[in-house]
Amino acid sequence: MTTENMTIAELSAAKTITATCDKHGINYDKRDFYGRGYYGICPECAREADEARIQAEKVRFAQQEVDRRNEFRNKRINVSGLPSRFIKKTFSDYIATTPEQQRVLSVAKEYAENRNDLGNGRGMIITGTVGVGKTHIAAAIINEIIKPDNSTTAIYTTARDMIRHIRSAWRNPELDELEVIEHYSEASMLIIDEIGVQFGSDSELVQLFEVMDKRYGEQLPTVMISNLRIEELSALLGDRIIDRMREDNGVAIQLDWASNRGVA
Ligand SMILES: [Zn+2]
Repeated sequence: MTTENMTIAELSAAKTITATCDKHGINYDKRDFYGRGYYGICPECAREADEARIQAEKVRFAQQEVDRRNEFRNKRINVSGLPSRFIKKTFSDYIATTPEQQRVLSVAKEYAENRNDLGNGRGMIITGTVGVGKTHIAAAIINEIIKPDNSTTAIYTTARDMIRHIRSAWRNPELDELEVIEHYSEASMLIIDEIGVQFGSDSELVQLFEVMDKRYGEQLPTVMISNLRIEELSALLGDRIIDRMREDNGVAIQLDWASNRGVA
């Protein structure tokens, strides 16, 4: 029989063979490919291949998203202003051996987790002498609250650097004092370290209060760190600022043990 005499069905039948999928046991057609062989794929195998491809793409996109989020997190940590030797410090590598150290650690952890309780920014005051690990706690708070899946930001600064930065706007026409104050006022968390006796002229207190007041208005938490004892800090900063810190379940921790640092 010549092909001219064949029906379309016969013609197409001659060009296809039936195969059975080893995996699925399904019969399917394989078609002649210009006499070079019969090609075809089990429809179920095709569907599975499609699904695997889509799944692989989803995994790849998800991984890209994870990478992007981690990068975003690291970037926020890197621009926080934490000194490089503290930048990776967390609660888990804070060595708390005595009951007092363990208590301080748990208060600080609780604070980091619940700093925005009731929508209010709770304050925390950390006091203690040099070398007891105050800045480590500050770094641990920042590392705890900045997560890949949030957009929390934090600024760590010394009191002196913050005031110097605000004042630099007076001489620098490219800086606006209000913008600098806003920079400190808008971060999700502000940690001001080294509030000591050298700090506290009237104008410095006015600038500090301005930042604190804006943060209070925005219900954003602030952590203050000082070598002074809490009574001395209250005397230095005045009731106005200390009251802001105490409001809404603000906490104060005193690191009262001897220095962890070796004596030089
Ligand atoms: Zn199959």
